[in-house]
Amino acid sequence: MTVSAYIGLGSNLAEPAAQLARAVSELAGLPGTTLVAQSPFYASRPVGPQDQPDFVNGAVHLHTSLSPHELLDGLQAIEQAHGRERLQHWGPRTLDLDLLLFGETTIADLRLKVPHAELPNRDFVLQPLLDLSPGLTLPDGRSVAELRRLCPDNNLRKLPPVARPLG
Ligand code: ADP
Ligand code: MG
Repeated sequence: MTVSAYIGLGSNLAEPAAQLARAVSELAGLPGTTLVAQSPFYASRPVGPQDQPDFVNGAVHLHTSLSPHELLDGLQAIEQAHGRERLQHWGPRTLDLDLLLFGETTIADLRLKVPHAELPNRDFVLQPLLDLSPGLTLPDGRSVAELRRLCPDNNLRKLPPVARPLG
């Protein structure tokens, strides 16, 4: 049995759009997982410390037979492979992969909160989700489209499509 999972991607170091494009291929290669669709990428102002480059963000829709925690393991392995260092909360990073939604599942344990805690407050998460699935709702029934309308604007700019790397 597979579940629909949505992953948020972000980067503001070392050619962010290329980091994201590579990460999409790597997500598609996770065991038991297929890539359904990839959103456009957006540039946005950083959340938190402002003395850092703008972010590039996007989201992907996956079908996976992994459990939520196995999927998080996979996301963190990909972050590590991109040289992610956890230096500063909300600081600059080569790659951030967040598990946004996992079917209709709600999780709140020490390692994993799903839906992702900041999902309703971030236009750079809501807009790519909306691009992927206009009718998407959260497990509590709230509509992503409605949350997007209510969300403060963070100067989102849609970027031109990036060619997927080969191999
Ligand atoms: P942030 O994305 O908030 O800037 P990090 O990427 O450094 O923070 O993640 C910190 C921790 O968040 C991870 O170690 C992970 O265990 C936890 N976490 C909780 N819920 C999620 C989720 N839905 N997706 C990804 N990480 C999560
Ligand atoms: Mg994260």
